[in-house]
Amino acid sequence: MSNLNSFTMPFGGAPLDYAEDKRTPEHIQTFLAMPSARAVLLHNGKAGIGKNARLHRIHPSELIGHNLYEPGPIFLGLEGARPIFAANLQDVTEFLPEDNFFELRLGGAKMHADDLAIAGRAKSLFDWHASHRYCANCGGGSVPDDMGAKRVCNHCNTEHFPRVNPVVIMLVTHKDKVLLGRGIGWPSKAMSALAGFVSPGETIEESVAREVFEEVGVKIKNPHYIFSQPWPYPSQLMIGMICEAIDTEVTLNTAELEDAQWFTREQVDFVMNGNDKDKAAFIRPPKTTIARQLLGYWLENTP
Ligand SMILES: [Zn+2]
Repeated sequence: MSNLNSFTMPFGGAPLDYAEDKRTPEHIQTFLAMPSARAVLLHNGKAGIGKNARLHRIHPSELIGHNLYEPGPIFLGLEGARPIFAANLQDVTEFLPEDNFFELRLGGAKMHADDLAIAGRAKSLFDWHASHRYCANCGGGSVPDDMGAKRVCNHCNTEHFPRVNPVVIMLVTHKDKVLLGRGIGWPSKAMSALAGFVSPGETIEESVAREVFEEVGVKIKNPHYIFSQPWPYPSQLMIGMICEAIDTEVTLNTAELEDAQWFTREQVDFVMNGNDKDKAAFIRPPKTTIARQLLGYWLENTP
């Protein structure tokens, strides 16, 4: 992972050409009629998985007559020359058994990287449509447009585009130690990087300093960017950072965290290698998360 060019962040990899200039009704009709066109399937926020742990793909014409959640099929983009659509199914039985639908943040680690990115984009877009049915400008009803790429208000004609919320997620380090926290309601021993939404009026670096101080009362210096991740729960851009603690005394904000502790490099190495869970100092974050990738990066790049 020290070579970032050869590493694909889970949910990243950008396998699709969004084809912003090919969303007219004529283009979409042509795409839908292509024998190579495919639709991937979502249901209750989960992705339909078929053979070889790949996304189950059907021809979009097979969706006709089935109950789909609003806005119907979304055009996700082109995978090479192949148009890729997504459908959010109300009823799954016709296509795949219910058990073949998997939660991406858990089952995603086993998926092909391109499939995880495609399913994540689909989930983010469907979540956005479901929660943005009314115009934020006038309160009137809005309708999907450009095959799911935007919504337009019926009353004031304002266009609304899918939004992404920036979140900083950071490892706070001190010499050979790293500070991790446990969110409220997490399993005991589960630990992860501290994180929080970027607020209007602050830089990414200022957001890191504020969030760390708010959550654990620790002042930091030298925040620097490592890598980022699109995270479809529901639609966040996770900005992975590492910073250094000026002081190490933790004052826990119990409204935000249940616990926060310093762990040595040795303890983190033991956990990250998947060793004996009873002897491990904490439970590592799921493989699909940027927190897990940040811990791996820190281990590789800390002497
Ligand atoms: Zn409006």
